[in-house]
Amino acid sequence: MRLIRRGQGYAEVQLGDLSVIALSDGEAEMTADCARAPGGGPLAEAEMTTTLVDGKIQLQVFAFLIRGPEGTMLIDAGAGDAWRATTGRLIETMVAAGVSPDEVDQIALTHTHVDHIGGLARADGSRVFRNARRVLVPTEELGMFRAEPHMAPVLSLVLPLEQGDGVMKGVVAINAPGHEAGHMAFLIDGRLLIWGDLVHLPHLQFSRPEITWKFDADPVLATATRRALFDRAIAEGLTVAGAHLPYPAIGRVSDTGQGYAFHPMGSD
Ligand SMILES: [Zn+2]
Repeated sequence: MRLIRRGQGYAEVQLGDLSVIALSDGEAEMTADCARAPGGGPLAEAEMTTTLVDGKIQLQVFAFLIRGPEGTMLIDAGAGDAWRATTGRLIETMVAAGVSPDEVDQIALTHTHVDHIGGLARADGSRVFRNARRVLVPTEELGMFRAEPHMAPVLSLVLPLEQGDGVMKGVVAINAPGHEAGHMAFLIDGRLLIWGDLVHLPHLQFSRPEITWKFDADPVLATATRRALFDRAIAEGLTVAGAHLPYPAIGRVSDTGQGYAFHPMGSD
């Protein structure tokens, strides 16, 4: 697998009759204390030299679009107007990649944090993807999603999502709990694992998967899931993609002996 197309904030791969486009929603500056040592305390700044820029973490935010014979599905929706001034660029990136938001006929969510759902609706109460006929939300996340006032415009489209559900032909949901109880990954054509928020700190969490993120609901489970999916990706030769990986947000994982490494996909 290789990139077949790339541009400002987006990159596309082809898997049989499905194409997957990583779409940047922008980036968010996060405080250094978002990185947590095993046990939950903040990580010493000396351990974060590979990650900090002017003392802050720059968190990349990506969503993924899947186009195929059955239609067009979005996995996560970026932050929209609900979070930072530097996020909410998903539609701009989508249009740059030659995709109209009106083409999206369904949306599946990895979980329901603001940087993944904010882009579903606008503050004025309108839907961003006006032709989307359903929004698939992991079962354990339904309560949180429904409690979010910003999501009122799309509540009538919500359907529960469970492990093993074939979201569209060639797209299967896989439990990846820890960051949230219902956090879900998606396996595309048996070859590309879109793993949502398995990794927030790409310069730290591959070499040291035991490092966690301030907003992990269950840091110990998040670490176990991270290791398990890294191992699965290596064992099965999967390409991986993640919401907070560096551009193009698609690549491979390798085992270095002491930990793991991420290799972003190039054009060749
Ligand atoms: Zn996230």
